[in-house]
Amino acid sequence: MTDLSTPVAEVVGAKTAAVLNSEFDIVVVEDLLRHYPRRYEQRGALTDLAGLEIGDHVTVQAQVKSFKNLKNAKGGSRQEVIISDGSGSLTLMFFNQHWREKDLAPGRQGLFAGQVSVFNNKRQLTHPDYELLTDASEVNPDDYAEAFLPVYPATKKLPTWTIERSIDLVLSGLGTVEDPLPIGIRSTNKLMELNQALRAIHKPGSLEELEASRLRLKWDEALALQVVLAKQRHEEDSWPAVPRNEKPDGLLAAFDARLPFKLTQGQIEVAKTIADEMAAGHPMHRLLQGEVGSGKTVVAVRAMLTVVDSGGQAALLAPTEVLAAQHYRAITTLLGPLADRGRLGSHDEGTGVTLLTGSMNTATRRQALLDITSGQAGIVIGTHALLEDRVDFFDLGLVVIDEQHRFGVEQRATLVAKAGSDRRPHVLVMTATPIPRTVAMTAFGALDISTLSEMPAGRSPITTHVVLSAEKPSHLTRVWERIVEEVAAGHQAYVVVPRIASQEDKELAPGQRQAIALEDLAPQLIQGPLASVRVGIMHGQMAGADKDEVMQRFANGPAHTDGVDVLISTTVIEVGVDVANATTMVIMDADRFGISQLHQVRGRVGRGSAPGLCLLVTEAPPFSPARERLAAVASTTDGFELAALDLEQRREGDVLGRDQSGVRSSLKLVSILRDESILEQARIAAVEIVQSDPELSAHPALARAVQSLIDNARAEFVKKS
Ligand code: ADP
Ligand code: MG
Repeated sequence: MTDLSTPVAEVVGAKTAAVLNSEFDIVVVEDLLRHYPRRYEQRGALTDLAGLEIGDHVTVQAQVKSFKNLKNAKGGSRQEVIISDGSGSLTLMFFNQHWREKDLAPGRQGLFAGQVSVFNNKRQLTHPDYELLTDASEVNPDDYAEAFLPVYPATKKLPTWTIERSIDLVLSGLGTVEDPLPIGIRSTNKLMELNQALRAIHKPGSLEELEASRLRLKWDEALALQVVLAKQRHEEDSWPAVPRNEKPDGLLAAFDARLPFKLTQGQIEVAKTIADEMAAGHPMHRLLQGEVGSGKTVVAVRAMLTVVDSGGQAALLAPTEVLAAQHYRAITTLLGPLADRGRLGSHDEGTGVTLLTGSMNTATRRQALLDITSGQAGIVIGTHALLEDRVDFFDLGLVVIDEQHRFGVEQRATLVAKAGSDRRPHVLVMTATPIPRTVAMTAFGALDISTLSEMPAGRSPITTHVVLSAEKPSHLTRVWERIVEEVAAGHQAYVVVPRIASQEDKELAPGQRQAIALEDLAPQLIQGPLASVRVGIMHGQMAGADKDEVMQRFANGPAHTDGVDVLISTTVIEVGVDVANATTMVIMDADRFGISQLHQVRGRVGRGSAPGLCLLVTEAPPFSPARERLAAVASTTDGFELAALDLEQRREGDVLGRDQSGVRSSLKLVSILRDESILEQARIAAVEIVQSDPELSAHPALARAVQSLIDNARAEFVKKS
């Protein structure tokens, strides 16, 4: 009897097994059975041939119209077969295969697979594979499985019908398989048994049966994924952490007393949650999401001060030098006299705030390392430089990670391990990229989620307009005039471009032009429309110190003798950069950016008391998807609404990010975006299972499914790194 772990070679033979393996990594029976159909063709329902695109690998259902045997000049022959869907047609081209005439008689129907190419202005498949079908009229119309043909993800070497035949063979010899879904979950959610589901997805007896099988198999994926996350979480929770209690008369109290504003209700609530969790004996794992400017940093600083009050240190990891430097400036400003390095005349309760980045000079770095090791630095802010071996904390109690999606899981683990071998720090992750709950749960693994949804009072509105520079060049002229006016009124502006340098050698699609480059635009503006204002330039390839200098001059602003009024940059300013006096944001070739990115970049203005203006400059043609995207960004400033729109347009891989790509490849049926309720219910079930049986010893089949997900993810990760 065959079971799920039987090698496919024992069932389908060594030759087919070798192809299954090389094309789709299929080794055992389970791999093959979980190679689900991509879609189902109804027998007799011909594929719309007019919709086929050149270059596509297709499998189409069609009827043979004519067969022509033609002689070639050099004595060879070619066979031209026209197939049709009733309206459109497609040519099948063979060379020296006149024997195909008896197969491909006019009137026969079949599935034809190949790559669409063009010859003499006609679309054709050269040497296609095909499978002729029994006539639809001979098939019992009540027999759904007969009437519907599974079409599998296939390749040239492995056409869909070879896969189908292999699966038929496997199914006919398959014994009863053990079900990894606990019976309780199955009955609560009215799920089909695995035995039945694995048959039904390949040979559905009805549409209802097909849907039921898909639902059940989605659960397999969802539960395995959620058990992996629940185990991770369980493992992390089992570490001890030093409880960090708020002190009534410490640094935090002094900080609160000198805050120039009142915390919003949302900030107060999140702060309370964080305080409670950090007071516990196991580590906090919390994700704090909130729009740019919603006040996450203040919440994080309060958590850091709580840890400092209890004698520990807090580290803030930022993705870029610009952001680290800016956090450093913002935090030292917020702390005022509370930030010191034990200088004379400093506040009694003060603590050291230390910056550590890769581009610091040796002496400064040595001092920073010393302050970190001695505990002199209560708050440490840095980039990847914080992860290096020689960074050794005195007592690391809290790790704050800004814009987590820019860091890998291993990087977080490296920093977390610096708390010592016998305990873990509390972890607070901050992100300004709003994402739906389930996606966050999966993308960020085992984190609890808090959201700051209200903006602090006194924030100014941002108005956004789309500027059609090709259709209305005068509007672009007006953009530059507007910037000069803003500067004259004492404000500042950003101009963001998609690229640093133009890519001369880049292949362009028809009608496409090179993206506007910083190197080209900046001199034009400086010599032209922006000649009367002070312009600074910043991009990702500049040295850290140079970036800092420009940023500092921009922060200094118009009042300063060496201030910068207008900053022309790439998206290095995307996150966190905070200059309240900047009121205007111009984004060139805005159609080259994604929705979330535009929203993120736009958030750089409207941070002070003056209203913000964002101008999206584009040459995208009317009615193009790009134009629609820009119109959407212009129509709302609700980040969650835009995020949902963005997600609809992106593939899940981009959503999950680099570290989760292995997980993604294991999710064949379940969609992180669309199967929210399944994922949520599976999460509840997974937490219950892991709490009562962390080793899954009472759930051997589930344990195997989980292990195979982990192995898959690991293999995928190795492939990518
Ligand atoms: P985020 O980190 O979420 O982008 P920040 O914490 O940097 O937001 O806050 C943005 C700006 O708003 C900062 O200048 C900060 O000092 C200010 N801010 C934060 N909380 C409040 C509040 N409750 N009331 C008024 N201003 C606030
Ligand atoms: Mg911030």
